[in-house]
Amino acid sequence: MMKDTKIPYKIYLNENELPQAWYNLRADMKNKPAPLLNPQTHEPMKAEELSGVFCDELIRQELDDETAYFEIPEEIRDFYKMYRPAPLVRAYCLEEKLGTPAKIYYKFEGNNTSGSHKLNSAIAQAYYAKQQGLTGVTTETGAGQWGTALSMACSYFGLDCKVYMVKCSYEQKPFRREVMRTYGASVTPSPSMETEVGKKILAEHPGTTGSLGCAISEAVEKAVNTEGYRYVLGSVLNQVMLHQSIIGLETKAALDKYGVKPDIIIGCAGGGSNLGGLIGPFMGEKLRGEADYRIIAVEPASCPSFTRGVYAYDYCDTGMVCPLSKMYTLGSGFIPSANHAGGLRYHGMNSTLSELYHQGMMEAVSVKQTDVFEAAEYFARIEGILPAPESSHAIRVAIDEALKCKESGEEKTIVFGLTGTGYFDMLSYEKFHDGKMSDYIPTDEELEASFAKLPKME
Ligand SMILES: *Cc1c(COP(=O)(O)O)cnc(C)c1O
Repeated sequence: MMKDTKIPYKIYLNENELPQAWYNLRADMKNKPAPLLNPQTHEPMKAEELSGVFCDELIRQELDDETAYFEIPEEIRDFYKMYRPAPLVRAYCLEEKLGTPAKIYYKFEGNNTSGSHKLNSAIAQAYYAKQQGLTGVTTETGAGQWGTALSMACSYFGLDCKVYMVKCSYEQKPFRREVMRTYGASVTPSPSMETEVGKKILAEHPGTTGSLGCAISEAVEKAVNTEGYRYVLGSVLNQVMLHQSIIGLETKAALDKYGVKPDIIIGCAGGGSNLGGLIGPFMGEKLRGEADYRIIAVEPASCPSFTRGVYAYDYCDTGMVCPLSKMYTLGSGFIPSANHAGGLRYHGMNSTLSELYHQGMMEAVSVKQTDVFEAAEYFARIEGILPAPESSHAIRVAIDEALKCKESGEEKTIVFGLTGTGYFDMLSYEKFHDGKMSDYIPTDEELEASFAKLPKME
């Protein structure tokens, strides 16, 4: 196969090319995402109502759908420089092995100790908490990547960090927990007996392995009841997607350097932050009518918010303490089966991406767990990187699209987000290798039962 000699295996931007500002995709949307609502009154949430839970500057970012660019404070840029700009890799070896005429690129976010893109937002959120004079933050973590990233960010700025870790991950991933403790965080398996909401969930679902939705409720309760603390969230919210826009801005800058225009952009979708960040500047062009791209969200068949969920106002957490968000959702009471891509086990989806999907501006597919691990292993053996199970959802679909190009002979350019590494996921890989991995997919009846519990809106 002819190699495109002009384009290196890795496109690095230099330090000075690190983006100066985050991009707020909502600014370019004519039909904005629906506002967050107060769960009691169903009126749009005001900044004051959120201020007991979230940091002030983050609330400002959350509620602003007009400002296109937010300058990245110098302290955050300095931290970014330790691991960014992240490389954009041309997957020549993968292309050759697949025998596809497609050109495949991936943006690699696994180049930091937390092992994922989550650090991009963690450092920003810790910075704003510190600026506000707070002493600590609480959060939830599913697979553990967010908790790790936040622990790193909090230790950098000298903040306390209290993490509620979904119980099945806590048990499956003791090393993740120890990394968090290395960075000074305290880690509690969720649901726990430390909070009222945790006790209630345990009473209703004894033996539950937990979910992100219920860990969120516990973390919020703890933050609200602890002086000088606020709650921070690593996905789903628009502020997180704003911080993650650094992924897309760098990707676009790297492609622009070589005059490459992607045809297809693919990302895995849990709460939507890496996908929203990766596609941000490309979707912006699409919204402004300057370019067109196929954009594909990939989700697990076990937790299919886009592909089988409904577009409705729902609670962001099981305990129903967070604001209501209009999003594609499986219902806040939906507890997905113990899928191995912990970071994708969330019942809802970012509101901006939900609105864009609703408008037909992007596509979504769901993939089975064993197909995902097959792609993960294939990729690891060819490209060298051991991918996170979450990221491997995007790999699966990138490979599928490249194989379609092989059939049709089309030389499409595919870009996907490789959000992290899978070193802490070896028990999942082990299940796959031993043929013990299941592909549980929820039934329509299960989903209907969950939809029936959506909040009634007048
Ligand atoms: C958390 C996580 C995801 C999913 O979260 P999004 O907010 O949807 O991006 C994907 N990949 C990795 C490696 C993660 O840690």
